[in-house]
Amino acid sequence: MSVLDDLPPLRDVIARHDLAPRKQLGQNFLLDLNLTSKIARQAAPLADATILEIGPGPGGLTRALLANGAEQLVVVEKDPRCIPALDEIAAYYPGRLRIIEADALDMDLAAIAGDRPLKIVANLPYNVGTQLLLNWIAVEAWPPRWQSLTLMFQKEVAERIVAKPDTDHYGRLAVLAGWRTHARILFDVPAQAFTPPPKVTSAIVHVTPSLAPFPASLTALETVTAAAFGQRRKMLRQSLKPLGGESLLDRVGIDPRRRAETLSVEEFLALANALGRDE
Ligand code: SAM
Repeated sequence: MSVLDDLPPLRDVIARHDLAPRKQLGQNFLLDLNLTSKIARQAAPLADATILEIGPGPGGLTRALLANGAEQLVVVEKDPRCIPALDEIAAYYPGRLRIIEADALDMDLAAIAGDRPLKIVANLPYNVGTQLLLNWIAVEAWPPRWQSLTLMFQKEVAERIVAKPDTDHYGRLAVLAGWRTHARILFDVPAQAFTPPPKVTSAIVHVTPSLAPFPASLTALETVTAAAFGQRRKMLRQSLKPLGGESLLDRVGIDPRRRAETLSVEEFLALANALGRDE
């Protein structure tokens, strides 16, 4: 195994600080510094931006980000037990690591990033991963505050983010991500790579913002996708009935007998814009 730094092995850190993983905090730790380094490098270059890591835990990915060049790294961790372990990393890399003990769901990105570009990297806690992604994509002002997201998800969620029409995973998340971002799966991470191993395979997803996504109202798009995918097996004339049904579909030239999963992102945007005009 390659040596990233002279800090103690993560197993020792976990034992010394009594960091027995807690399921309710989504704690599945990565202890292989080769793997955390591989993840960190996907967000490179790391030196010219503020790097924000959500859920550093005992600090495996944190150490990899610093060893691979992060000069200004901010970590947000909810579990107070992890803070002393992170303090040791901060002491080893003076002036480069800022530790915030907080719930990532409540944080203010602009305040964290300051004036610098912002890249977010995380082995996300699975219980809040999708909500955090939505918080970063479903924002009123676009382009967003961040420049890239390099995130670990359960593979099934990763597939829902990058899904194309006419596939089982295609739904609201794929339409939103397809509208405003370029998202791709970089590689899978097997369950055995984690301590403790989760039940399913994970995957790293890389997301960058589209600079000029087709103009549409976020609220109208959310309304239309919620109605369409809420009854995904039904024909759109039925599922979209509360929003105008056949007359709405006729106005944008979509066959009312089609089903939600056959519509392209552009067709959803056309529907959202037609709906927006009625509101
Ligand atoms: N980054 C470490 C790694 O790769 O080994 C830990 C990843 S573990 C999957 C998720 C981490 O997120 C845990 O350390 C957990 O305490 C933390 N966490 C869970 N919910 C959180 C929240 N709402 N805000 C901030 N951190 C959270």
